[in-house]
Amino acid sequence: MKIMGLQKLTLLDYPEHLACTIFLGGCNFSCPFCHNRDLVNVDPQAPTVDEDDFFSLLKKRQGILEGVCISGGEPLLHADLPVLISKIKALGYLVKLDTNGSYPERLEQLVNQKLVDYVAMDIKNAPDRYAMTAGLKELDLAPIQRSIAFLKQGVVPYEFRTTLVAEFHDMEAIEAIASWLEGDSPYYLQCFEDRDTVIQQGLHAPTREDILLFQKRLQTKIPHTYLRGL
Ligand code: SF4
Repeated sequence: MKIMGLQKLTLLDYPEHLACTIFLGGCNFSCPFCHNRDLVNVDPQAPTVDEDDFFSLLKKRQGILEGVCISGGEPLLHADLPVLISKIKALGYLVKLDTNGSYPERLEQLVNQKLVDYVAMDIKNAPDRYAMTAGLKELDLAPIQRSIAFLKQGVVPYEFRTTLVAEFHDMEAIEAIASWLEGDSPYYLQCFEDRDTVIQQGLHAPTREDILLFQKRLQTKIPHTYLRGL
């Protein structure tokens, strides 16, 4: 499996743990607000991180770093992900997985095999806006629903998270999300930041005032709704 990027140290990606992050290429979504355009549409000639170098780093940092975040792209696209994670876990690291929830069987398999310690799943939008927000013409929501239901069982620590974009999220969408996810799940709202590397230019962050209103409304049905990086 090709590792497309490596951030050697992150204080933010893995809650309460010092970690590094690897980025795997390819994604089944094409969210217009995605920052990682080059990880979604991967150039086969793009440079990659040598797997041996990555594992040398993990060996060197044992006792300093606690975790490895696996991000993308969509990491669960890769059927051989369990092999990579097993090697990481063999060195004693915690593993956090970022996912868009499209591959519930693979997610369940990793959790049941105790190969992941924390899962962050994106909730792109309310069900009736999901496809549009994922940059697709249509989308079967059943796998997303199944991933949500699985994580809500609490078999593994997890969070849901949404990147708020003014063009996609309004109070109507927020109310639909609140009804959809209702319960005790940890739910993080993060704000879109424009960058040169986004898939679609010209998008905007909602105002801080709107975000606070969204949080308040969400907390009526999802009490553990928090803001991240705001
Ligand atoms: S935001 Fe995530 S799910 Fe969406 S295109 Fe980017 S990597 Fe894929």
